[in-house]
Amino acid sequence: MIHVLDEALVNKIAAGEVVERPVNVIKELVENAVDAHATHIFIDVTDTLISVHDDGVGMSRLDLEISILRHATSKINSFDDLQHVATHGFRGEALASIAAVSDLIILTRRKEDMEGSELHVEGGVMRSLRSLGSPIGTTVLVRDLFFNTPVRKKFLDTKEFERIVEFLEKFSLGTTVAVRLKLYDKVVLEVNADTLLDRIVQVYGLDVAKHLAVIEFADSGIKLKGFVSKPSLLKRDRSQQAFFVNERLVESDEVSSALYDAYKSILFVNKHPLAVLSLTLDGVDVNVHPTKKIVKFSSPEKVYKAVFDAVRSIFREQSVEFSMQGTLPERSFSFSTEENRRFQPDTQRSLLISSPKEHEGYVHFPSLRLLGNVAKTFFLAESPEGLMLIDQHVVEERINYEKFMAQYMNGAVAVQELLQPEVLELSMKEAMIVQRNLPLLQTLGFSLEDFGETTFRLSTVPVLFNRVKGVELLKDLLTDFREAEKEKIVTRMACRSSIKAGDFVSSEEMYALLKKLDQCEFPYTCPHGRPAMVKISLDDVEKMFRRKGF
Ligand code: ADP
Ligand code: MG
Repeated sequence: MIHVLDEALVNKIAAGEVVERPVNVIKELVENAVDAHATHIFIDVTDTLISVHDDGVGMSRLDLEISILRHATSKINSFDDLQHVATHGFRGEALASIAAVSDLIILTRRKEDMEGSELHVEGGVMRSLRSLGSPIGTTVLVRDLFFNTPVRKKFLDTKEFERIVEFLEKFSLGTTVAVRLKLYDKVVLEVNADTLLDRIVQVYGLDVAKHLAVIEFADSGIKLKGFVSKPSLLKRDRSQQAFFVNERLVESDEVSSALYDAYKSILFVNKHPLAVLSLTLDGVDVNVHPTKKIVKFSSPEKVYKAVFDAVRSIFREQSVEFSMQGTLPERSFSFSTEENRRFQPDTQRSLLISSPKEHEGYVHFPSLRLLGNVAKTFFLAESPEGLMLIDQHVVEERINYEKFMAQYMNGAVAVQELLQPEVLELSMKEAMIVQRNLPLLQTLGFSLEDFGETTFRLSTVPVLFNRVKGVELLKDLLTDFREAEKEKIVTRMACRSSIKAGDFVSSEEMYALLKKLDQCEFPYTCPHGRPAMVKISLDDVEKMFRRKGF
């Protein structure tokens, strides 16, 4: 016999979709706080309690009573409203769902009310509604979450704490509201800065700031703003990627694949950029997912293109401009025509490195005419754009890094057998590191054999390094070895194996190095993100000679 389910059961079923896990409860509650125009949101979490307090507009006693009913919302009235929702919520399901599967207390007061109200609901059944003193705003206390669901989920384990922190990190990058999270009374996140950059620093630390590139794009009805990390800062997972569409934190295949495609051939396997990207556009359907974490674009290809173009453009600007301080006055005279000063590659001496070209869309560095070197540190060259100073150490570092990384990623690091294996006497700590990481060291090209206690026999080193350097390098690696950071290890190997400032480099060697650099995927920076070359434009040179700017 067909019958209509009672409201409590319906809410419990819906809860499975809307608040599948504790982090979803937090998402719904903080979004409600933002919708209520809060300026501060305080979240407190322990393994048995979630509490969210805001200083928003609060609710009247009547609204409080209704708020926990299914489809009770103050945010939309009509289908037309649904097309233009500016609030996070609009389905009126969250509080009803949470109430159905927890022991819930909501305390709230509006500015205009003398007294607040407190509502207590247990498993969807109202226990009490009474007047009570309360600060302005709303406090929601969720206890015993999922106490009445079939799989009584372990309330809050470490993994769930991590999810909560990660969610709130991202959430606080998409708002200007102050957000504070405490886990068992310990503040683990506090974000209150005004600008996005400052917020990113508060969330991810000061170190990331210098590795960020600004993203700014506006075209065909799409606005895009945010930051992505340069290749000098890559992460082990996607946890530091936050995408906002019309201020809503979403997961988006369009945005994500555009981002990764833009980084193609710069990112190595298992490396991920940090990215905070905020899109503003029309034609977004937000009502396609119960938790609204997925949205539908009316023109997904436009979104893809906007993100792709904007992110890729930062790689074109990697050659660092040398520029004099201050604003530059208009030029007053010129000493010759543009025409007869135009760059002439030195074809006779065949020092033309390459012509401007696009490798898979990446602009490589322009034609260079090598002039010599300065202070045994920099190569000096002329390019169509002016004078180039090129750091010899960075050049080789970049070359070695890419070459070695490619071998390593293919599991085929070229090794050199040592005619006479090297016997290494290590410290206890070094020996432990080697012992634990024998297979990894093997894939890096170092074959080591345990000779008992702290003695090891080294029989191969990577070809990229000669024997002496190979042994030195291994010892050097062991002083600060973190197996999780393979890219750092390779960066260090590349750095140590490269020519230094002060090493003499002949013109043939310079020429050969630049040719190799031109073949690199990412010739403009060293693996640490320092520039390989600095350009001094002819304009700037003229200004130095006071030919300009008077
Ligand atoms: P929705 O957010 O989709 O409207 P909810 O179930 O999350 O649905 O909330 C129901 C209603 O309760 C909201 O529309 C709002 O009027 C009220 N409400 C919920 N949380 C708050 C809050 N923190 N401050 C003020 N009002 C709130
Ligand atoms: Mg809501």
